[in-house]
Amino acid sequence: MIPLKPLADLPTHEVTNMPPHQGDQDLWQSDVALREGVKREGAGWVEARLADFGKVAGASETFEKADRANRHGPELKPFDRYGMRINQVEFHPDYHDLMAVAIENELASFAWTNDRPGSQVGHVALNYMFNQAEGGVLCPVSMTYAAIPALRTTPGIADAWIPRLLSASYDQRDIPVTEKTGATMGMFMTEKQGGSDVRANSTRAVAVGSGTGPDAEYLLTGHKFFCSAPMCDAFLTLAYTDTGLSCFLVPRWTPDGERNTLFIQRLKDKLGNRSNASSEMELQDTFGVMVGDDGRGVRTIIDMVQGTRLYCCISSAALMRQALVQALHHTRHRSAFQKRLIQQPLMQNVLADLAIESEAALALALRIARAMDEAGTNESAAAFARITTAIGKYWNCKRAPGHIVEAMECHGGPGYVEESILPRLYREAPVNSIWEGSGNIMCLDVLRAMFREEAALPAFLSELDLARSENSAFDAAADALKQELGKPEDMEFRARALTEQMAVLLQASLLIRHSPVAVSDAFCASRLGSRWTGAYGTLPAGLDFGAIIERAAPVS
Ligand SMILES: Cc1cc2nc3c(=O)[nH]c(=O)nc-3n(C[C@H](O)[C@H](O)[C@H](O)COP(=O)(O)OP(=O)(O)OC[C@H]3O[C@@H](n4cnc5c(N)ncnc54)[C@H](O)[C@@H]3O)c2cc1C
Repeated sequence: MIPLKPLADLPTHEVTNMPPHQGDQDLWQSDVALREGVKREGAGWVEARLADFGKVAGASETFEKADRANRHGPELKPFDRYGMRINQVEFHPDYHDLMAVAIENELASFAWTNDRPGSQVGHVALNYMFNQAEGGVLCPVSMTYAAIPALRTTPGIADAWIPRLLSASYDQRDIPVTEKTGATMGMFMTEKQGGSDVRANSTRAVAVGSGTGPDAEYLLTGHKFFCSAPMCDAFLTLAYTDTGLSCFLVPRWTPDGERNTLFIQRLKDKLGNRSNASSEMELQDTFGVMVGDDGRGVRTIIDMVQGTRLYCCISSAALMRQALVQALHHTRHRSAFQKRLIQQPLMQNVLADLAIESEAALALALRIARAMDEAGTNESAAAFARITTAIGKYWNCKRAPGHIVEAMECHGGPGYVEESILPRLYREAPVNSIWEGSGNIMCLDVLRAMFREEAALPAFLSELDLARSENSAFDAAADALKQELGKPEDMEFRARALTEQMAVLLQASLLIRHSPVAVSDAFCASRLGSRWTGAYGTLPAGLDFGAIIERAAPVS
């Protein structure tokens, strides 16, 4: 704990020109773009709840717990004292506290328990705020959220599992799920010989009795190379039957009340996301129940992956927002060359550039969530959600690491030190780009959506058209994109460039329509200009830097 009044009078000198401790943050009240975006995208009815949660997520206590849970990562306990295999992972107590906060505040369940438009947007806002403090626990939380559509394909499993997965009770006990008040869900897809290419999986599934297909019981044998949150109660797992690659629910405990044969081999020593355990697993005659149709495992699990990809998009926006908040706090209180850093013109350029990137990333995530809200009743919205989830996952995740580095640099040396949150944010960022489909895979998925789903590209282009005639750079860039999309040759080579153009234009379209003109002007003048290299702090002169910074700056 930081003392309330630290001593500034040291024996040799007085400590001056250092920012005050930031204290509790109100992640809702201080974030104008979030408040506006939530209302705009149809979740105005969640405001009171978000206002309460903004204080919980932003409390110093939450940040301190996250810091400890990441410093003191999980430990594998494969055996008990008598040499019996238990396959357990022990976490720091703060990890469990943070899991409880996330589950009790419905970060996994809100989108499904509130059957009204705006629930996906509310889900995004809750996760966006919490993720500013902690990403590790949101791995199992986001997988639990994302598993619901896949489980709904198979009624027997849905009835048994969904009520517990949607429970707002965090029950960390390693006991059969029928005795638990709440449950969490992970997923096992990646194997050593293939992660992106899951058809290279070698794990086999053999039916236990005479029944096969959805809801039938199987035994799985093989391995999985990346299994995050291995203390979840069940895992959606890909394995081959004679029909083809299929999806199974693999529980920690079998229906007979025995430990399932899930052998955790070791935990990964990861760059970031260290509060969360990621493991390697062996499956040997491991009990599982088929989810979805036999041989259609990729189709079944893709419903889950859509949700976790949205999470990566939200998480990247959240990391950028918190990095920006830290940079604004520091530069507002630190002086150099007779001025506050925040008043130095070149620093204003950097801060404003970070601010527009952060606002654009959030706007994108909220817009995708609204499309998900509408997808059940609107085919065009479903197609829009399908293509923009891949676009948003690619672009927000690509922009986050560089953004955080720049926010770190705004602090000078203290930003590089672990006591600031910047190193942890920085380490957290790259995983969002790698898991749930790495960057190239996302761009290839954008092409797939364009070519396989007739409604996807028209829905996307119509959204751009809504912002026409407001900004000449935008109009020109939207025309250029249409030309690019009209050239079928070498599409795969150009997939990153195309996806980037689509992402930036969609963000610009949202900012032009919904943000102050200072923000959208700066975004279009830089991102859609010919000189943009992607480095931060390179906005053209003449923009309203003060207005952009003021909008982003939290109320102190
Ligand atoms: C911390 C962490 C936790 C994870 N947790 C889980 C988990 O819980 N469950 C799970 O199933 N997996 C998990 N993963 C695995 C993750 O989903 C995979 O690492 C990811 O899908 C990439 O697969 P791979 O590692 O086999 O890389 P590869 O598939 O070998 O890909 C390597 C690179 O090649 C690129 N590439 C692949 N194909 C093409 C192509 N056709 N054209 C161009 N480029 C291509 C990829 O984009 C990537 O950049 C986790 C990973 C990490 C880092």
